[in-house]
Amino acid sequence: MTRALALFSGGLDSLLACRVIAAQGILVQAVKFVTPFFGYELLAREQEYARMVRDSYGIEVVLRDVSEAFFAMLRNPAHGYGKNFNPCVDCKILLLREAKRLMEEFSASFLITGEIIGQRPMSQRRDTLRVIERDSGCTGILLRPLCAKILEPTLAEREGLVDRELLLDFNGRGRQPQIQLAAKFGISSYPSPAGGCVLTEREQAKRIAWYYARYPQVRLNDIRLLLFGRHFHLPHGGWFVLGRDEAENRRLEALHDPGDFLVHMPERPGPMGVLHGAVHPDDLAAAAGLVVRFGKKISDESTAATVLFAAGGEEHRLVAEPLADELFQEWAL
Ligand code: SF4
Repeated sequence: MTRALALFSGGLDSLLACRVIAAQGILVQAVKFVTPFFGYELLAREQEYARMVRDSYGIEVVLRDVSEAFFAMLRNPAHGYGKNFNPCVDCKILLLREAKRLMEEFSASFLITGEIIGQRPMSQRRDTLRVIERDSGCTGILLRPLCAKILEPTLAEREGLVDRELLLDFNGRGRQPQIQLAAKFGISSYPSPAGGCVLTEREQAKRIAWYYARYPQVRLNDIRLLLFGRHFHLPHGGWFVLGRDEAENRRLEALHDPGDFLVHMPERPGPMGVLHGAVHPDDLAAAAGLVVRFGKKISDESTAATVLFAAGGEEHRLVAEPLADELFQEWAL
């Protein structure tokens, strides 16, 4: 039986691409690549996710973590960034390269994606699709079922593994053809298109770009830390992260590096903080002031509190007043 490997985002287009090929009697295995920038939380519940996709859409999916390769690419993407810190063309090249590598494992004869010509400004122009194919080493083996009829036939079509007549000629940004096709397959609920990549979100992207400009070595846990909480770049170089609720406080504790300071008020409810790379006493004082500022007031007036710094089995205490807002606003990331 012919097998195809699908790059699966979870959005409607990738679902449809899988179903169009499966409708020809081809066995489709989907792979969803994840990094902390997209899809990472699924790793903790892969089986449940795979079951949901199977039950809802009749598609078999596995997850693959490509964080390290992605981090390296993000520093200097050959085709540049989009509107924010999103390296969409190089991202697609990287994911296709990874998919090509997996073809043998899944005995796949070709690859499929849900891309549609003209749907996205940067990464889905006809010339860009060709560049992506070429630079990923996938020329001829990458079939885009939703717009295949307006592209050159791929190997799978030329060799008769796939009936080109049953493929589609979608083009442009309109969603109606996809919605009608989904109805034909009995698919009525599906995630919204695009969504889900933090590199396209302005504030998050700025923070990630700041990190990249500052740290030559990218660490997985640092990237995970960047994506939640309040962040401050302190005057003497410290990077300070504060939890905004209990769940974030727990995540900070779990993700902090043993060399970082964990910072909190032992005698008063308030946020957990992680202080990264700061040894300057003024940064310690600033972090303490921020913890008190964002902690619970014990009366109408916010008053000084003891702040505990813990790192590598050692503890220090500082008594700090809440920091005035105008003092720290320009430190916010
Ligand atoms: S939006 Fe994010 S996941 Fe999607 S192609 Fe661009 S960089 Fe990759």
